[in-house]
Amino acid sequence: MAEREAVQEPVELCDWCGRLWYDGGVLAIVRDSSAVHATDPAKDGMRLLVACGGEHLGALLERYRQRPFVEEELWSWQIVRALSAAPHDMTVEELSPVTGLTTPQIHRALAWRDECALHADRPGQDPP
Ligand SMILES: [Zn+2]
Repeated sequence: MAEREAVQEPVELCDWCGRLWYDGGVLAIVRDSSAVHATDPAKDGMRLLVACGGEHLGALLERYRQRPFVEEELWSWQIVRALSAAPHDMTVEELSPVTGLTTPQIHRALAWRDECALHADRPGQDPP
């Protein structure tokens, strides 16, 4: 049986170009209303960017600098997280303590989602 050389596994994937690399890279955190952490609400609205170098990180930072931070979008994704973990359907009143959102915030999030559905060709925000 032939010996195999150890294969070094890539550890990172550039968010801009998709290139894999073994060492180096640059990281940044940006505000992003479409980013909701799977389990830690304190990290909601923050996205980790990973790039193969400064040029691609700069392009990513510019993309997110131009993307509006929409609270209703963040709330919509927080509602999705809560419903995904819930054992049953929930009312708005039940969602409030689970999400930490007020009832008016939940209604604004739902209205934002409906508005996005009416203008699906609008770039930048993808409703839940
Ligand atoms: Zn890259």
